Amino acid sequence: MEWRAFGPTKREVPVIGQGTWHLEEDDRDAAIAALRLGLDLQMTHIDTAEMYGDGVVEEIVGEAITGRRDEVFLVSKVLPQNATRQGTIEACEASLERLGTDRLDGYLLHWPGEHPLQDTIEAFEALQRDGKILSWGVSNFDVSDLDAAARIAGEGRMACNQVLENVQQRAIEHAVLPWCEKHRLAVVAYSPLGSGRFPGPRTKGGRVLGEIAQAHGATPRQVALRFVVRRPSVFAIVKAGNPEHTAENAAAADLELSAAEIARIEKVFPLGRRPRTLPTL
Ligand code: NAP
Repeated sequence: MEWRAFGPTKREVPVIGQGTWHLEEDDRDAAIAALRLGLDLQMTHIDTAEMYGDGVVEEIVGEAITGRRDEVFLVSKVLPQNATRQGTIEACEASLERLGTDRLDGYLLHWPGEHPLQDTIEAFEALQRDGKILSWGVSNFDVSDLDAAARIAGEGRMACNQVLENVQQRAIEHAVLPWCEKHRLAVVAYSPLGSGRFPGPRTKGGRVLGEIAQAHGATPRQVALRFVVRRPSVFAIVKAGNPEHTAENAAAADLELSAAEIARIEKVFPLGRRPRTLPTL
């Protein structure tokens, strides 16, 4: 596993971490085994949210990390509709309870919402002062949202922006990624395998991924994951409902793509024009 400094936090985090969206729909034992195997393979960044399964996923994660809390870089998210000054504190405390822990390593606003950002940020800062969260960040923030958050919080306060990024959806590379790099935020790529819509082997892009994979004795998904984390600011969180998928995904970190291979992938999955609004899932 490769580890990198996570934005301005003083923490090293693995380049490939574990997502948990829809985990409540999987066989519970298989899902827990997958998360635990992920920890064994050093995929210690676990991403969850109060939204996932209405809290059930946080309970599953809590069970999976029992006895192993100190290994984990644990991140959860507050829903925008709960993100008032008091609501954010209460949502965090409920997440901690479901996760069976006394602290989160990261706590994020799931997407920009109706409540004043100032109130959410004040709550994050209070939670951090109290030791309930070790860092805070945002998710699905476009450049204008990031500017607004930085004006309120000041430089160096936000740890990360969690955004959609995979071979087929590279919109953040236009402006969001450069903004985060300039301001030293970690970029966390969600849906790095396209959330179940992975390019088929008979498509043009799928063939290129297949050929590069074959040259490395790897799989197309491993190539796609490694491509997503090709810049030092980027981390991926990938969801797997069974240990076989987890093992395949963890091994992506060991792959080394050449500059020519990266250029080939960029060509077959072009960046396209900058969209007016940031794509989300
Ligand atoms: P993803 O990780 O790109 O893809 C997950 C899908 O790929 C699942 O269907 C999974 O199947 C399958 N898969 C995973 N590894 C595989 C493998 N080695 N071989 C074959 N299939 C494989 O999609 P995602 O869940 O949307 O995104 C990842 C995480 O990012 C989420 O779980 C969540 O934590 C986070 N996220 C955040 C936001 C946000 O707004 N902040 C939005 C979306 C996602 P199995 O389940 O059967 O293994």
